[in-house]
Amino acid sequence: MFDFFEMTEEELKLQLISLNQKSFHAKQIFEWVYQKGVMDWNLMTNLSAELRQLLNSQIHLSSMQLVHVKPSTDLETYKFLWRLKDNRLVESVLICSKQRRTVCVSSQVGCPAKCAFCASGKQGFMRNLRPSEIVEQVVLIDKWLKEKGERVSHVVYMGMGEPLKNYDPVVKSIRQISHPDLLNISQRRITVSTVGIVEGIKRLAKEGLRVSLVLSLHAPNQHIRQKIIPYARKYPLENIMEAMDDYARSTKRDITFEYTLIAGINDHPDHAFELAHLLKGHQQFAVNLIPYNPVPGITLRRPDKKAIKEFRTVLFGAKIVNTCRYTKGDDIAAACGQLALQEIEKEKVA
Ligand code: SF4
Repeated sequence: MFDFFEMTEEELKLQLISLNQKSFHAKQIFEWVYQKGVMDWNLMTNLSAELRQLLNSQIHLSSMQLVHVKPSTDLETYKFLWRLKDNRLVESVLICSKQRRTVCVSSQVGCPAKCAFCASGKQGFMRNLRPSEIVEQVVLIDKWLKEKGERVSHVVYMGMGEPLKNYDPVVKSIRQISHPDLLNISQRRITVSTVGIVEGIKRLAKEGLRVSLVLSLHAPNQHIRQKIIPYARKYPLENIMEAMDDYARSTKRDITFEYTLIAGINDHPDHAFELAHLLKGHQQFAVNLIPYNPVPGITLRRPDKKAIKEFRTVLFGAKIVNTCRYTKGDDIAAACGQLALQEIEKEKVA
């Protein structure tokens, strides 16, 4: 079986020809799916019964079912829980902010990175998502938005999973999401977030894509980083920073450093000095600070407001422009994966 969401219109034409069908049906099928949001071969009424039967037997159209959509109390974020064909659960988050409609997608079921502050890491790694399972998260939320007269405008790979540990399917999904025949979302509106998989960053720099890159930095030095991100033992900070610079130079895209502030771990003014020193002289970048959002079962704490203010003051003093984004229980964190797991655990209990 082939996966529809891994094909361009040209590829579908070739597939139809190989099935002894006329290639013009590809255009009709693309209109049904991408313009009318129809996700069932049997409902494509301008295709012959014979062709519909053939498509049912040869090409997977949909690989996930919506379990539920949960809006936050301020209606700014919506969490979509999906059941995959093998009964695994993954989550996507829609973030509505002013004109932007951003979908945060998952790239794996569980996560191999095991970051100390993240519930997805605690769950362990189950499997990589296929390109079609990543693309379909965006297609289905776009369909949901279309019913309200809106469209997905941005996509971020910040949900469950480390995208660069599922490299080929993630890159394939980016090409699909941005393809003019498909969702046509500009690559400049697509962001990939990584904990710092050096070989993945280097490969991504050479893909000819124009996506933004975010490093989940979370520590001002290698020593602290190793304590909270196990992958840091394999990827020294110095090598990661070099790869990030190369990425910015070769793609001409800005890079972003995300730093989750955790009380007593990485939130002291000395850490801010060290962070400023680490970032000085690097390629064009932005810094996002995220006060830790406590997760049940993890004993880490959010710093108090005074500590956060002092941290930011040191950065501003060193001319490091930074933003600070608070998250709350029903909000989205930078590591959306944290939230995904809570939902999945609830679903399992139910
Ligand atoms: S923060 Fe991201 S990379 Fe780290 S364990 Fe969670 S989902 Fe994986």
